[in-house]
Amino acid sequence: MEVLTNIPFELDADHLAGRMHIKPESREADDFYRLVERAGEVGNPKAVYKESYIEEGGEDTVTIDGVIFESRVLRTNLEGIGRVFPYIVTCGNEIDDADLSEGDFLKNFWLDCIKEEMLKASRLYLRDLLQQKYKLGKTSTMNPGSGDAAVWPIEQQKKLFSLFGDVEGLIGVTLTESSLMKPNKTVSGIRFPNEVGFETCELCHREGCPGRRALFNKELWETMQSGKEH
Ligand code: SF4
Repeated sequence: MEVLTNIPFELDADHLAGRMHIKPESREADDFYRLVERAGEVGNPKAVYKESYIEEGGEDTVTIDGVIFESRVLRTNLEGIGRVFPYIVTCGNEIDDADLSEGDFLKNFWLDCIKEEMLKASRLYLRDLLQQKYKLGKTSTMNPGSGDAAVWPIEQQKKLFSLFGDVEGLIGVTLTESSLMKPNKTVSGIRFPNEVGFETCELCHREGCPGRRALFNKELWETMQSGKEH
């Protein structure tokens, strides 16, 4: 297991202001630029990952490092694969702990966008590190709770966390009773070699999602329902 802290990130205040339609001459611009500066000082994106091995697969289950995950899609995607990389990446708890929004609704909204940038930095940093260190070739990732509820139920987040032990002590991330992660800009998942290029969005019926990365794939959906390999 490896823990990564102080992952480098850059906050382009002008770009972020543009995304939030904040005009440079507006009253709120000063507050916004100060907030970006403070977030840049306080922020500490982090990640934890491990090199894990698949022990066995059942009809709808796959066992990784002794933990049984229940997801037909995960099991199918990991067919024939021996090694995977469970991970948790986060914007870091420091922004929330510093209470930079001071309870202000608008600042809270801005901070969410800033934290999203830090999370993005963590994700890309870990993805590139894994590529360079393990020479993985093409990879895909699956995340508990992403896509339709049955793809990989969010409750399995607890099992994923159990692969790492004290996640809060390692990178400051906690799980709520309903399996949501805190800080909110945190992603957990398993990265695995995949030449085909799997995206969970292919198995997600949600319409109008601004984050969609691939069209819904009816054929793949039906294949996954029947349990056949794709
Ligand atoms: S379509 Fe949207 S909600 Fe569905 S898996 Fe993709 S990003 Fe997530």
